[in-house]
Amino acid sequence: MKTAIIIGSGLGGLSTALRLAHKGYKVTVLEKHSRAGGRLNLIEQDGFRFDMGPSFMSMTYELDELFNSIGILNPVELEELDPLYQVFFEGQEKPRLIYKDLQKLEKEFGDIEPDLAAKTDVYLKRAAQFFHDTEDKVVKSNFNNKLEYILKLSRVPLKHLPYLFRTMWSEVDKTFKSEEVKIIFSLVAFFLGATPFKTPAIYSLLNYTEMRHNGYWRVKGGMYRMVEEILKILNSMGVEIIYNTEIVGLGNYNGKINELVDQNGNKWSADIIVSNSDAASFRGKILGRKNYSEKKLDKMHWTLAPFTIYLGVKGKIDKLMHHNYFLGSNFKGYADTIFTSSISPQKPYYYVNSLSKSDKTSAPEGCENIFILCPVPDLRYKNDWSDKDELADNIINDLSERVGFNIPENILTKKILTPVDWAETLNLYRGSGLGLAHDIDQVGAFRPSNKDEELSNLYYVGASTTPGTGLPMVIISSKLVTERIEKDHESI
Ligand SMILES: Cc1cc2nc3c(=O)[nH]c(=O)nc-3n(C[C@H](O)[C@H](O)[C@H](O)COP(=O)(O)OP(=O)(O)OC[C@H]3O[C@@H](n4cnc5c(N)ncnc54)[C@H](O)[C@@H]3O)c2cc1C
Repeated sequence: MKTAIIIGSGLGGLSTALRLAHKGYKVTVLEKHSRAGGRLNLIEQDGFRFDMGPSFMSMTYELDELFNSIGILNPVELEELDPLYQVFFEGQEKPRLIYKDLQKLEKEFGDIEPDLAAKTDVYLKRAAQFFHDTEDKVVKSNFNNKLEYILKLSRVPLKHLPYLFRTMWSEVDKTFKSEEVKIIFSLVAFFLGATPFKTPAIYSLLNYTEMRHNGYWRVKGGMYRMVEEILKILNSMGVEIIYNTEIVGLGNYNGKINELVDQNGNKWSADIIVSNSDAASFRGKILGRKNYSEKKLDKMHWTLAPFTIYLGVKGKIDKLMHHNYFLGSNFKGYADTIFTSSISPQKPYYYVNSLSKSDKTSAPEGCENIFILCPVPDLRYKNDWSDKDELADNIINDLSERVGFNIPENILTKKILTPVDWAETLNLYRGSGLGLAHDIDQVGAFRPSNKDEELSNLYYVGASTTPGTGLPMVIISSKLVTERIEKDHESI
């Protein structure tokens, strides 16, 4: 029987385990942490159940495809969000609701942006064309080399070329008049872990995926249900997951990996190895590749780091919805300075998810389950997080004021994770939340490949290899790597 080891149980690793087990491989997953899921994880504390990282799913048809590829229907129950989210601007009492329905959206912004429906329609049609012209040709393709990638890119209609050279901000700036609307349309850049002033305009395709194509979905019972459903199936297929086991080096190798070594000196071997550990830093730290030395890794573009707070609160906070953004003033000034600074932001911008708004089981009765995510500099810029309580208090006090509810006096449980915790728990390079950034020179064949350059049985899956970061993307990544393995090793 063909054997495979997957290093890491993030969504990319688990999805690959499903696909390979279905193809007849005997699969073992080795996981450093004590629980599966990677960033898609769970925190249980004092009767509250928090989603640790991701809080929404998009492109849900990729999740369907994953289960369908092994012959079963998607067992995860999803519910589309409408409105998608609300945005609180500093100094404005009333939040703005973001609707997929453009007539409703126009009404919401009637006082500041005339003809919003028509403008948005043009904007989204343009983004849709780019999305559909690249989804299959570029995003869902394996490339053997840069030339092949460039040839595939050359089949994308030339009219999209200017998109590559403009930033997301300039794209929204030329479409909309009001600062608020521009900011709202550019917020999706943060989902890529970057600011809109540094993100190419091509990623306005994310506006299309959120507002027209497939929307945002929540998972009934919390995001971790996705992992739980996959684990049930893996268990029934005989896939073994071994926890608290970190791969720290290679034993014997000779053109292929014969042995992996864990932190206790135990040796592991299989026909095929798939690393779900970060595809760039694994090459540097575990394989000792010069192109991925610490100096070179530090020069690459990494996505912003997460500073996350999990709060169990007594009482109901009526002003919160499932997804909420709290923004300050001077958006550009903030985005340009804060993410390369060693000082915590004084007026932080942050996102709040309240799972208890839709999932009563995530908090005791009459209580609210609150997750706060504040994007911050990674550990290259700020590695001292001894001020974490100060930053958390600053955010919590600001939130209290803006939702008109005394949160500090009603906290039943609290947990804070800094970029140091994210880095140490899941081996995220310098605490970067979404892995390698998506600049033009770090996507496609310019992103670390899902097939190793030297070792013939080593492959990669997940956020820092192709196609990129986010839950649907790492599911696509598992499909691409499985296709590679099948093609390369038909005869095993
Ligand atoms: C705060 C936050 C919020 C997010 N929100 C969203 C969202 O709402 N929607 C969305 O689509 N995406 C979101 N993302 C992005 C999404 O979580 C990631 O893109 C995705 O989960 C990455 O999955 P992955 O398979 O690459 O691996 P990971 O989740 O990184 O898992 C890799 C696993 O490998 C293990 N590992 C690493 N090295 C080793 C080793 N040497 N030996 C053994 N095990 C090892 C780690 O412990 C980890 O469990 C968010 C990310 C963060 C951090």
